[in-house]
Amino acid sequence: MAGIYIHIPYCKQKCHYCNFYSFASSQFREQFVDALLNELSHRKNYLENAKVNTIYFGGGTPSMLSTDEINKIVKRIFTLFQVEDGAELTLEANPDDLNEAYLADLKNYTSINRLSIGIQSFFPQDLQYLNRVHDVRQARSSIELAVGNGFTNLTIDLIYGIPTLTIDNWKQNLEIFFSYQLPHLSSYSLTVEPKTALNTMIKKGEMQNVKEQQSIEHFKILLNETGRNAYVNYEISNFAREGYYSKHNSIYWLGGHYLGLGPSAHSFNGKSRQWNVSNMRKYIGEETVENIIEEKEILTPGQRFNEYVMTSLRTSWGCDSEHIQNVFGYKAMRHMEESIKEFIRDRKVKKEGSKYYLTGEGKLFADGIASALFL
Ligand code: SF4
Repeated sequence: MAGIYIHIPYCKQKCHYCNFYSFASSQFREQFVDALLNELSHRKNYLENAKVNTIYFGGGTPSMLSTDEINKIVKRIFTLFQVEDGAELTLEANPDDLNEAYLADLKNYTSINRLSIGIQSFFPQDLQYLNRVHDVRQARSSIELAVGNGFTNLTIDLIYGIPTLTIDNWKQNLEIFFSYQLPHLSSYSLTVEPKTALNTMIKKGEMQNVKEQQSIEHFKILLNETGRNAYVNYEISNFAREGYYSKHNSIYWLGGHYLGLGPSAHSFNGKSRQWNVSNMRKYIGEETVENIIEEKEILTPGQRFNEYVMTSLRTSWGCDSEHIQNVFGYKAMRHMEESIKEFIRDRKVKKEGSKYYLTGEGKLFADGIASALFL
């Protein structure tokens, strides 16, 4: 199982909370697509002939690309890599880009078969707080048009914990999602990252700050309501009907290998992790592809153990002590089993066979629990 991620750093405007490598422009568009194609050719052996099951256009706003540009990139991937029949090809899209003609072209002309739409909220005051470029009408019509154009594998993003989002409105956001009968939802708590406009504005007193208690209330509602509507919480922020788990993100969570292309993208081949430069001028300007790698690290067994614990605990597949013993040895397994006992006692973790899972209560403390288990 292997995946390819392509980072498209263009956006129409910068959302206040965003700390991804993206900018409000489409400068160097042609050179950027050429540089991506070039990087693909140079990295064709990175996955060592593993079958590619997923291709993911993330960003930024990949729906700012034309269908011709998407097609060019996809075709190059199909030429250079062994792409499995029925592979999942996802495009992240913003609602304001999804009109009838674009969706019809995506469906009929490119091989994109899954859309991830950045809705975030169905209420104008939240979209305004976040500085999203789209409005509520576009949020709704993008979903309706995508369904109408035959996209059945659809996911949307919703953000909770926004200071302007009341409990009632959060419940309504979820009700609207359920009413569309979509098979997948990604839902994240709003976090205030350093070096974002939101952080600066909160510090200046221009925006309301995020409240932890509000996020906790919203998360509890999210777990209850998605459960009542038969969605599986297969990763702490992801909810799906059976058969619609994100294959691409599952690669990250299950320790699979992936190749990341474009500025700021990162790649993992089981032994090492590497990052491309977060700088468009350098990305398109470097003469050799090796120069666009900003950082590379060989993971120690301890780092790999910590990553496994951190990601597996967040999933419905759980953290498996048998796997830990087989891969990291008896001592690591005993360390994990001893350290996790207090969380079982506090009903934050439950054990079934050799596997450990976070309970609903435990999901509120996922990061703290995982770090208490680290080597
Ligand atoms: S659309 Fe996405 S990538 Fe672009 S600024 Fe907003 S959150 Fe960041």
